[in-house]
Amino acid sequence: MKSENYRLSEEYAKELDSSDPLKKFKQEFYVKSGQYYMDGNSLGLLSKRAETSLMKAMDTWRDYGIDGWTQGEHPWFYLSESLGEKSAPLIGAKKEEVIVTGSITTNIHQMVSTFFKPSKSRNKILADELTFPSDIYALKSQLTLKGLSPEEHLIQVQSRDGLTIDEQDIIGAMTDDISLILLPSVMYRSGQLLDMKLLTKEAHKRGIFIGFDLAHSIGAIPHSLHEWNVDFAVWCNYKYLNSGPGGVGGLYVHESHLGKAPGLAGWFSSKKDKQFDMEHTLDHSHDAGAFQIGTPHVLSCAPLLGSLELFEEAGIENLRQKSLKQTRFMMELIKYELNGHDFEMVNPSNDSKRGGHICLQHKEAARICKALKDRHVIPDFRAPNMIRLAPIAFYSSYQDIWRTVQILKEIMEQEVYLKYENKRDVVA
Ligand SMILES: *Cc1c(COP(=O)(O)O)cnc(C)c1O
Repeated sequence: MKSENYRLSEEYAKELDSSDPLKKFKQEFYVKSGQYYMDGNSLGLLSKRAETSLMKAMDTWRDYGIDGWTQGEHPWFYLSESLGEKSAPLIGAKKEEVIVTGSITTNIHQMVSTFFKPSKSRNKILADELTFPSDIYALKSQLTLKGLSPEEHLIQVQSRDGLTIDEQDIIGAMTDDISLILLPSVMYRSGQLLDMKLLTKEAHKRGIFIGFDLAHSIGAIPHSLHEWNVDFAVWCNYKYLNSGPGGVGGLYVHESHLGKAPGLAGWFSSKKDKQFDMEHTLDHSHDAGAFQIGTPHVLSCAPLLGSLELFEEAGIENLRQKSLKQTRFMMELIKYELNGHDFEMVNPSNDSKRGGHICLQHKEAARICKALKDRHVIPDFRAPNMIRLAPIAFYSSYQDIWRTVQILKEIMEQEVYLKYENKRDVVA
């Protein structure tokens, strides 16, 4: 009989690794040996495929010059559309509903300026108080541009515990004066996954447009945005999608809204066959391409081509199953090994409510993270007191998770963290 603690042992972790159907993908990534990278939710690691597709884009530039727009393996003129098509399965969308363009923040500006048409009685935007600051800055500036005051016209649903938002509280805030809702799919701190299907249904019952920021769910969790009738969504590709620092983002607009004029127009909003007529009257595209503005950032699009191949091969459902199993394993290890060290695990434990990362609160979090980094564990610190740890299904092994927790345990038991200053760095 194996003891009860067997399921918390390194031997068991190795066993999970050897029976892991996705284990072959680790060799596709540049994973530093001896390092435990738990920050793929902020910046995913480079894959060999992404490197190859970037280098191929450079070859096309070298070999074709200007003709790269229409020639070569992936003509640049259609790259945003073809990447949109390849991204569509990750969010459960039709190909014409998706375009790879912009960044989360610029795409929020685009979506809000397209969907938010305030009237006398319906002139407010609903968001939440825990979301990422950039999303709120964008909403406030959109209100200001419309001559509305953010204090009065931006409603932020309050959290009951400072970590999560109750869906019923969001629904309760969907009053008759709300025109548009923007929410994260997964809360960037606690990792809470919101019920997008339910919230969309409730918003639509009240005649409100609803969109989601998928920064922390795309590439980690399957979505059915089209089926759920979500109006719009935005995301970045540099977190779970491993497209590289500052890599281009993406957006989705439901089929029923295609044909809407873009709030922020540019020549790439045009129908493709009309664009080079160079008319001063825009004939905007009737697919999601209408929400592009200017020339695509080809070199930051290119790595995504290779990266998306890996998602197609692995399957987002399989990646989600592994991710859930890995975060569960990590949670069990943390509960057992770090008991008595004043960590509070604040991510949802229920699988249907949990995104791709674990979140630990500790008053010494900043310096614990510094100690982890010096011991080759790459965590993610969020001020003032949070440590986020994201095992990535593509390239984290169960043994990596086991080791990460052991290193954290050593740091706590030997009080190694006391040697560091409990203060965040410039980028944290
Ligand atoms: C990462 C992240 C951003 C960053 O936006 P960029 O425009 O890509 O810089 C915005 N919102 C959320 C929720 C994020 O997690």
